[in-house]
Parts: sequence; structure tokens; C-alpha cells
Amino acid sequence: MRLEGKVALVSGGASGIGEATSRLFASEGAVVVVADVNDDLGTALQAGIRDVGGQAAYMNLDVTDETGWRSVVVETVERYDRLDIVVNSAGISVPGRPPAEEQTVEGWDAVMAVNAKGVFLGTKHAISEMRKIGGGSIINISSVYGNVGSRGGTAYHASKGAVRTFSKAAAIQYADQGIRVNSVHPGFVDTPMTEGLHSQPGVRDERVGKTPLGRMGLPKDIAYGILYLASDESSFVTGSELVIDGGMTAQ
Ligand code: NAP
Repeated sequence: MRLEGKVALVSGGASGIGEATSRLFASEGAVVVVADVNDDLGTALQAGIRDVGGQAAYMNLDVTDETGWRSVVVETVERYDRLDIVVNSAGISVPGRPPAEEQTVEGWDAVMAVNAKGVFLGTKHAISEMRKIGGGSIINISSVYGNVGSRGGTAYHASKGAVRTFSKAAAIQYADQGIRVNSVHPGFVDTPMTEGLHSQPGVRDERVGKTPLGRMGLPKDIAYGILYLASDESSFVTGSELVIDGGMTAQ
């Protein structure tokens, strides 16, 4: 019970890495607010967590909408009295995948809105509630593509690089208030986001080939790292970037 007594909000919490995180947090004793645009998955996950004795509530949230963030944070604190942990996992990739010359402005704006602005808003609106309880932990999901480049992907890389440096800035700004901010950098992980891409044999083989541990990541591989950063075990960790990529970027 590494999160006993804590209240956590997970954006993009209904699917993939967010879903694995929501389930793991609940199993470690947290009350979990699953915030997502996917109402079907979110409602099903709320029921699934409650069925096994966990505490969870699904709330609809579009992370690009500041009014929505305000409402979800207010509702969380009204229901559960506090907010200890925010995981900003909501993200999109496809409109941000082309190389620079082919990247549309619409695709750029869409990806930056969810992946960069969404993380900024999730951090911004957590701070006042965390300050009230003397601290908290914010975990922003970047990517190895926030650290290195690749042949495919323009806005996606830019958005994940923004998450990386923004997290360090926020870590410094709020360290004296006990609010920790860290980024997590997954490598290639099998989730609904990557299902189409990873089902193409060429892509799958290339990505596994680039990964020294020789397999795709699983959502729970990332969730365990997020759990460490959310728990008090990481109380001396802020402004750091946790790479979980099977060794891909160590080469
Ligand atoms: P996923 O399975 O697609 O989960 C993302 C969730 O976020 C989905 O439920 C999605 O809803 C939701 N979402 C999309 N736009 C939203 C918005 N505006 N407001 C609120 N929720 C929104 O993806 P994932 O692979 O778990 O990715 C989670 C995070 O990890 C993302 O930030 C991603 O960039 C990052 N990441 C993933 C990988 C990987 O290989 N999978 C690698 C590195 C980093 P819909 O399904 O309805 O769109």
C-alpha cells in the first residue's frame, strides 16, 4: 500500500499507460480519479477498479480545456478532500508524426494542444491544491522522443521536448513548497495508441531491433516507474527524467 491515503488524478487515465497507472495506483491504496475524453473506457475502468475493491471515479476531461481542468480539480477535492498526485498521461501522436516538410499546421496545433498545453494545464491547476496540503507529486509523461529525434515525427517530438523542460522549470519553481515535478520517458510500448503502427511487421521488427532488451514495453513497465515517482519513496526526486525504454536511448 505505497499510496495509502493519497488522492491521485490521472489524465488519459482510461487507456494504455494511463489505465495501467490507474489500476496500479488503486491497488496501492490511492483514490484514483480517471480523467479522460473516452467515456466508455473510463466508465468501464471505474467499475473494474471498484469490482476488485479499489476506489476510483471517472470524470470527463478534455486536457486542452482550462475550464474543464478547474471543474475536475474542484470536484476531486469536494469529493475526496485533497489532491496529492497528478499524472499527465493524455496524449496523441498521429497528426504529429510526419517529417517537418509534411507536418501540417493543423496537426502541429492539435498535438501541441493535447501533449504540451494539456500537461501545462494539469500542472498549473494541481499546484494550489497541493500547496494546501504541504506538497504533492506531479508526473508528466514525455517520451524518449522528447530526448532524441527520429525520422518520423515533428510536432510529437516538439511536444514531448516541451514536457521535459517544462517539468524541470516547474520542479524548480515549486520545490520550496514540497511539490515535486518529474517527467517519464517511455520507449516503444504496446498500447491502443501504437496498435496500428506496431501491428505492421516492418515497424514492429525495427522497433524491437532498436531495443536492447529485445521486446516492446508493456503499459505496466511504465506504470511501475510512475508509481515510484508518485510515492514518498521518491521524496528527494524532482526535476528528473525517468527513462523506461529497454535501453533504446543508452546506445
Ligand atoms: P493511449 O492508449 O491512446 O491513451 C491515451 C488516452 O488519452 C486515451 O484514452 C485518449 O482518449 C486520451 N486522450 C486523448 N486526447 C485527450 C484529451 N484531449 N483530453 C483527455 N484525454 C485525452 O496512449 P498511450 O500509449 O497510453 O499514451 C499515454 C502517454 O504516453 C501519451 O502522452 C503518449 O504520448 C506517451 N507515450 C506513449 C508511448 C507508446 O509507445 N505507447 C511512448 C512514449 C510516450 P482516446 O482514445 O479517445 O483518444
